[in-house]
Amino acid sequence: MDRIVHDGMMNDQRQRTCAEFERRFDRPPEWVAIAPGRVNLIGEHVDYCGGSVLPMAIERYTMIAAAPRPAAAGSASGRVFSTAVGATAEIPIGPTGGTAGDPGGDPAGAMAGAMAVSTGLPGWTHYLHGVIAGFLARGAAVPAFDAVVDSTVPLGGGLSSSASLEVALATLLAAVSDTRIEPLDLALLCQRAEHDFAGVPCGVMDQCASVLCTADHLLLLDCRSLTATQVPFAREDLLVLVTNSNVRHALNDGEYGRRRSDCEQAARVLAVPLLRDATLAQVEAAREALGPRVHARARHVVTEIDRTRRAADAIAAGRWAELGLLMAESHASLRDDYEVSCPELDLLVDLAAAERGVIGTRMTGGGFGGCTVTLVEAAHAQAVMDRVAQEYRRHTGRECTMFTTRPAQGAMIQTTPRPA
Ligand code: ADP
Ligand code: MG
Repeated sequence: MDRIVHDGMMNDQRQRTCAEFERRFDRPPEWVAIAPGRVNLIGEHVDYCGGSVLPMAIERYTMIAAAPRPAAAGSASGRVFSTAVGATAEIPIGPTGGTAGDPGGDPAGAMAGAMAVSTGLPGWTHYLHGVIAGFLARGAAVPAFDAVVDSTVPLGGGLSSSASLEVALATLLAAVSDTRIEPLDLALLCQRAEHDFAGVPCGVMDQCASVLCTADHLLLLDCRSLTATQVPFAREDLLVLVTNSNVRHALNDGEYGRRRSDCEQAARVLAVPLLRDATLAQVEAAREALGPRVHARARHVVTEIDRTRRAADAIAAGRWAELGLLMAESHASLRDDYEVSCPELDLLVDLAAAERGVIGTRMTGGGFGGCTVTLVEAAHAQAVMDRVAQEYRRHTGRECTMFTTRPAQGAMIQTTPRPA
C-alpha cells in the first residue's frame, strides 16, 4: 500500500496495542516488538527438499507491547493478553518454574521437559511458551513480564501469524533479557518452538522471512544452507495482491505428509541426499523406476527449484514478463504434477491472469485452499480486485478476502512507543 497509509496503519496498531496494555496492566509498556507475516512469491513445496524459496514480509504485523514485572524469586511468568483470542494466559518462566523435567541438560531435553506443561495451557500459548523455553535453554535471564499481543496477520490464513507471533516474542525477549542472538539463530529458535511446543513440523521459511526480510526486497532463502540473499524489488508501481480463497479442504494434513514421503522416496531412488541435488535429466531418466506419481512429484520439485532461481534473477534484472511466465508455470506444476491446488485456487488464478495490469499470479502456501499471490500494477489493482471478487462470488457463491502490500520490513523492536 501507499507508504503514508502504511505508516499510519502501523502507528494506529502500535497505539491500540499500547493503550490496551495500559488498560490491562495500569502502566505504560516499555517495549513494542513488531514482526510481520509473509507471503511466498515462488518456490512452493521445495523447502523440505532443500530448495530455495522467495518470500517477502507483508504489511501485516504481530505487535507485542510489554514491560517487566517485579516477581518473587522462582515464580516468574509471562502474563500475556491476546486481542485476537480475547484472553489472558500466564506462561511460566524459569528453569523449573512449574515445568516438568530437568532443564539443566541439553536444550532438547529442556524443551521436551517443558512441553508437558504447555499442554495444560491453551493452544495459542504453546508458541509463546516454546520461545521462552528456547531463551532459557540458551541461558538467558528472562524476567517476569506483562504483555499484550495484537495482530493484523489473519490467524490460520496461511500468512504465518504463528511465525510472526513467535518472532515478535523472541525479538522482545532478546531485548529484555539483553541476549545477543544472530537473526538466523533467532529464526531457528522460533521454528524449534513451533516444532516442539505447538507440534507443527514447519519448515524454516516463515520464521526466516519474518526476521530477515527487508522493505522493498524479496528474500531468496536456500533452505539447506540457510543462505539468505536480498533481492531488490525495484519497481515502485507494482503491488503484491494476496487473495484468500477462504476455503480449506480437509485432506490438507495427510496430503502434506504424503508429498514429503514421495519426495524422500524419489531422493532414495535417485540416490541423492535431497531432491534439490537431482537434475531434471536424472528425474526423466528414472521415470520407470520412480513410477508415475513419484516421478511427477519429483519433476515439480526440480523444476520449481529452477524456476525460483530464474525468478530471483528476473526480478533483479527487471525482466517482469519472464517472472509472470515463471509464476504461471509454477501454478501449473503445483496443480498438475504436485496435485496440491483445488478448483477455488485455480479459479482465482485464471480470473486474475485474464485481467489487465497483472504481471503474474499463482497459488501460494501448502495448497488445498488458502491464498493466491498476484503481482499487479498499482494503477490496475483496484479494478483487478473488484473483478476477481465479483467473478469468484459468481462462480463459487463464496467471498474471497484480499489486500495489497509492498515487500515489508522484518522484525524490529522499539523502546518508547511514539505518542500520537
Ligand atoms: P498461520 O500461521 O498460517 O496463520 P497457523 O495455524 O500456523 O496459521 O497458526 C495460527 C495459530 O497461531 C492460531 O490458531 C493461534 O494459536 C496462534 N496465533 C497466531 N497469532 C496469534 C495471536 N495474535 N494471538 C494468539 N494466538 C495467535
Ligand atoms: Mg503458521
